[in-house]
Amino acid sequence: MTARVGQGFDAHRLAPGRPLWLGGVEIPHDQGLVGHSDGDVLLHAIARALLGALGAGDLGQLFPSSDERWRGAASSVFVREAMAKVREAGFVLGNLDATLIAEAPRLAPHQEAMRRSVAALLDAKLEVVNLQLTSTDGLGAIGRGEGIAAQVVVLLEAAAGGAV
Ligand SMILES: [Zn+2]
Repeated sequence: MTARVGQGFDAHRLAPGRPLWLGGVEIPHDQGLVGHSDGDVLLHAIARALLGALGAGDLGQLFPSSDERWRGAASSVFVREAMAKVREAGFVLGNLDATLIAEAPRLAPHQEAMRRSVAALLDAKLEVVNLQLTSTDGLGAIGRGEGIAAQVVVLLEAAAGGAV
C-alpha cells in the first residue's frame, strides 16, 4: 500500500472568557472555544484526519478527556503525537486540505499565520498545506456564531524506504 487517505471533523462551542486558539495561533477575540484541552478545533480535525488515514481510531481513544493530563493541553501535542504515529507506520504527509467554518471573528487576516503554524507542526513544506476559510452564510448554530467547526482531508504517502 503506497497511499492512505483520512478525513477529520471537529466542532466546539464558543464562550466568553477563554482564549481563541486556531491552528496553534492565538486569535484576538472576546470568546474562545470550550474544550477539555485548549479547544483548537483545527488541530483536532487535523489529528483526527491523520489517525483516520492510519486506521488508528479517533482522537478520543488516543487522548481520553477523562485523562487529567490533557486538561488545558495545547492541542499541538495531539498533532505531534499523530504525526509520530504516521512516521512509525512508514508514511509521510502527501498533502493536507483544511476548511475552517466560522461566522466570527473574521479569520482572513490570520489565514496565512495559521497555515504556516500547521505546516510547522506537521514538519511539512508550506505548499502541501492548504487552509480554506468559509462560513455557513448565517445558517444554523455556527451561522449564529455559537461555535466553530473544521474539516480536514489528508493524503499520506509511503516514505522513501517503504511503508508497512
Ligand atoms: Zn475537539
